[in-house]
Amino acid sequence: MNDISSDRDSIGAIALPDTLWDRLARSEFRAKFHLNEKDRLYLETRGLPVIAEHASDFIAARLAPAKPPRDGRQTPWRGHPVFVAQHATGTCCRSCLAQWHGFPKGTALDDRQQSYVVKVICRWLEREDADVPVQTQASLPL
Ligand SMILES: [Zn+2]
Repeated sequence: MNDISSDRDSIGAIALPDTLWDRLARSEFRAKFHLNEKDRLYLETRGLPVIAEHASDFIAARLAPAKPPRDGRQTPWRGHPVFVAQHATGTCCRSCLAQWHGFPKGTALDDRQQSYVVKVICRWLEREDADVPVQTQASLPL
């Protein structure tokens, strides 16, 4: 049940905690964030690998520094699927990152921590983009 190594990939990235999605779902604030039509269209047309690059750039510039500029207000509420994902996953600023993911404030994020954050964002986008719930898919006639 609690196998934290199950999500570890070949480059030794930090695994996503199994409990993360349950914890986020229990937060009324985090759970209210969803992609709108424009976000979905953007995600669909550009594709997740491109969006992951955007996420990587945003994280490097706005979140990774030890003291990011305007920390706490650096992530807009809308305008890019990654911004929405950041608020939904507690990766929007260094306080939320410390609270939800345990990366201490005041220390620059290293490469592994940055790729963990990108992975959290992309996993959320994948989950959000899955329009048909898994249990419904299973019952469709083949
Ligand atoms: Zn925040």
